[in-house]
Amino acid sequence: MYDVLIIGGGPAGSSAGRRAGELELKTLLIEKEIFPRYKPCAGGLSNLARSYLNFVIPAWIAEKEIFGARVQFNNRAKQVIEVQKDYRIATLVSRSIFDDYLLKQARKTGMDVIMGEKVLNCQEKEDRVEVFSENSVYRAKYVIIAEGARGNLKKLVRNKTSEDQIYASLVTEIPKKNEVIVGFLSNTVNIHFGLTHRGYGWIFPHDNYYSVGLAGLAGSNPGFKRIMKTFLEENGFTGEYKLKGNFIPAGEIKRKLQTGRIFLAGDAAGFVDSFTGEGITYAVRSGQLAAGTIYEILSGKRDGSSLEGYVKACKQEFGGNLNYSLKLARKFHNIPEFLFDRFVSKPRIIDKFLDIPAGRITYKEFNSWLPTAISKIPRFKC
Ligand SMILES: Cc1cc2nc3c(=O)[nH]c(=O)nc-3n(C[C@H](O)[C@H](O)[C@H](O)COP(=O)(O)OP(=O)(O)OC[C@H]3O[C@@H](n4cnc5c(N)ncnc54)[C@H](O)[C@@H]3O)c2cc1C
Repeated sequence: MYDVLIIGGGPAGSSAGRRAGELELKTLLIEKEIFPRYKPCAGGLSNLARSYLNFVIPAWIAEKEIFGARVQFNNRAKQVIEVQKDYRIATLVSRSIFDDYLLKQARKTGMDVIMGEKVLNCQEKEDRVEVFSENSVYRAKYVIIAEGARGNLKKLVRNKTSEDQIYASLVTEIPKKNEVIVGFLSNTVNIHFGLTHRGYGWIFPHDNYYSVGLAGLAGSNPGFKRIMKTFLEENGFTGEYKLKGNFIPAGEIKRKLQTGRIFLAGDAAGFVDSFTGEGITYAVRSGQLAAGTIYEILSGKRDGSSLEGYVKACKQEFGGNLNYSLKLARKFHNIPEFLFDRFVSKPRIIDKFLDIPAGRITYKEFNSWLPTAISKIPRFKC
């Protein structure tokens, strides 16, 4: 019988595992793939995400340190605004390497890991959860489902995510020599608004490749593949590229996070910044919080019959960011022209906004600052 069994070895699962191991819980993590594995992602690891890791990201994983953003609004005669900081906002990583490294940090705590085995179902009993995989049945006092945006296990806790609560995305990696990448973007990410309904396109500079992708609200972006193709061509990427798709949940939609003994963390819980699509931060932190809550229950510091501890902890730590980012994403869609004039076209605003992923301010602080910077800009009511 394990204290905690974690399903999925992405940032949420690994972070839950590392925390559980540090707290000396008897822990098992089951991952269906064999690492290193490919994960569709732009690979933007915000400074905020890094601040939650209690180990250093080595230089060979940090492919580019990002100090600025070049923002374009394609409907607006392709206006371009570029902002540079004198401090780092984010780090670009390849997810196959980064996730493998995170899992290795978790393993160091002595937890058990099984790779290449898919969990098929869980059954919650009074004193444990039975976990059925392709190969075996495991027993644990608590389970953390960290299966990501896809997968059906989350339905054991909450209803299926509807199309207006999730973003579709396409991404590809385009090989390019570092000299060319540095010449074009250097240490800057390139964001293109105005391509999709509630979303954006990106070109991120990695080590000898670009990550080029597109995201938009699922179900309301017909011709998504065609838009991506045009986006690629307009930016000079004319080869045949393999496009990979995945979903990104919109954060702060009211979703159930826990039954008695089963917790959801990361994308499975829907914890993603709705405006930027950044989810690694909240995957890492929610994994840690889920493990911490389970530890408190098992050590008698918290009432196990209450479902409030984990929910409260998540709300306190990052509920504000998810809430404001969802409001911003919705406003941006409803009045894009207005927001472009007042928001995206102002380097000062972008400069301030970048302090959110930099981990220097919260969305709430950004929202309070906005009206002091620009008149007639609405505060988002949260
Ligand atoms: C195209 C795209 C671009 C993105 N870009 C960024 C970005 O630049 N920055 C950022 O912060 N976020 C980004 N995100 C979001 C980010 O990828 C996610 O928020 C993050 O990966 C969530 O981590 P997770 O651990 O919850 O899930 P995942 O990373 O998806 O990991 C889930 C793991 O669970 C495993 N698994 C699934 N089902 C089972 C099962 N039944 N049994 C065993 N194992 C299972 C999977 O194999 C996987 O390894 C992007 C997402 C997409 C789709």
